[in-house]
Amino acid sequence: MAIKYVCPHCGTQHAAIDTNMVTEDTLGLGSLTPEERANIISYEENGDTVASVTCEYCSEAIYRHPELTHPLQ
Ligand SMILES: [Zn+2]
Repeated sequence: MAIKYVCPHCGTQHAAIDTNMVTEDTLGLGSLTPEERANIISYEENGDTVASVTCEYCSEAIYRHPELTHPLQ
């Protein structure tokens, strides 16, 4: 299984970590509140964990254009 980091803004998978090598605590995911986990973490049918983490590109874009943090839905 793996933890995949997917940007919620552009949908890019920018990292994937084999969970045999690390634990959620190692990644700092274990310190999230239940509410934060619900917002950030999801699980795929194959058991992989998907973490919504903004990629560097979008972080830069949001820094320059803060209105992008409130996309139309
Ligand atoms: Zn992105």
